Amino acid sequence: MSIPVVLAPCTDYRAVEPALAAVLAPLEQYLPLGQPGLRVLLKPNLITDGHPDEAKTTHPEVIRALIRYLRQRGAEVRVGDSPANVCDLDRVLKTTGIAAVCAEEQVELVNFEKAGSEPFTVRGFSFNIARPVLEADMIISVPKIKTHVLTLLTGAVKNMYGCVPGLQKTALHKSHPHPTDFHALLGAIYSCVPPTLSVADGVIGMDGDGPTAGRPRPLGFLAASCDAAALDATLARRLGLDLSAIGYLREIQMHHLGETRAEQIEVILTGPIPDLSPAFQAPQTLPLGRLPRWITGLVTPWIWNRPAFSDHCKFCGLCVRACPNSALTQVPRRVPRLDPQRCIACCCCHEVCPERAITMQISPFLRLVMGIKRLTHK
Ligand code: SF4
Ligand code: SF4
Repeated sequence: MSIPVVLAPCTDYRAVEPALAAVLAPLEQYLPLGQPGLRVLLKPNLITDGHPDEAKTTHPEVIRALIRYLRQRGAEVRVGDSPANVCDLDRVLKTTGIAAVCAEEQVELVNFEKAGSEPFTVRGFSFNIARPVLEADMIISVPKIKTHVLTLLTGAVKNMYGCVPGLQKTALHKSHPHPTDFHALLGAIYSCVPPTLSVADGVIGMDGDGPTAGRPRPLGFLAASCDAAALDATLARRLGLDLSAIGYLREIQMHHLGETRAEQIEVILTGPIPDLSPAFQAPQTLPLGRLPRWITGLVTPWIWNRPAFSDHCKFCGLCVRACPNSALTQVPRRVPRLDPQRCIACCCCHEVCPERAITMQISPFLRLVMGIKRLTHK
């Protein structure tokens, strides 16, 4: 049986409710809705603080529409996430508009950092999962559709990384610096908390150097599936991203945790959605995870992906605090300095910079290789 992935046109956040009804109608038969008291956790992507128009985070109107949809079907709804570790959760909830929507809809906001967690070990990876996620009868991943300089795409699967509370997310970057390992870790975390449903906010997504420094990009749709991997694979194909470079989706397919093969997925369009792939920009960096480990080991001095700092820097020091490997230092009123020997290319600094002052830059050697590859593929 093929896995349905549904896309519904939606170009305006004021029209999310009918689009949500359209995108969920073909999936409702697969959902355990209608049971009174069903505890549903909505897991948006709240990576950092920022106004909803910046398109870094799931738009609050998508959360509002989901709350209303679920309530009508008897569910008890909660909303929770854990942003990048150095970000203040209360500030994130306020600036992204999530706190206001939850207050208006009288829905509990759960704090993953304070609610306690349970330890897991999967295929050699050890991590904690926030207790509210484990207590839910139904988890709904509600990502913003964005590019990602480290993982190429961040969608419904990668969104579940936020179920790991606070500081541990940074520590995991440090303990698994190789991209191949990090993708495997994402697969292991996903295996503990696979969402029952995923609803992706693509009304306005982000391309270029996401997940926080890219460009807001109107995509004009909501997308949903009961299989988060099928949803992400479909999004990658529609946006023209190289699916083979998204290592965590490979992991999920390999361990039979989800479906990414096009022939096993039925894409249902509830209305016309333009082909966005020609204009959608991938990150300028190369996701190093697509290179075999033996190559990265051999040519490490010539292959790197490192932060560079622009004069937009306001010296806030957030990136320095976010770095899991102490690769950044800063003196007051100065742009941070990088110790290249310590940099593990995790992109945590890039993710948290509120001024978009950090770009991840690849080595000249890699630029050359990629240029040759592009020429030979023309
Ligand atoms: S680069 Fe960004 S995060 Fe780092 S100190 Fe400057 S403004 Fe702050
Ligand atoms: S400098 Fe940035 S990319 Fe390098 S290890 Fe630190 S946070 Fe990660």
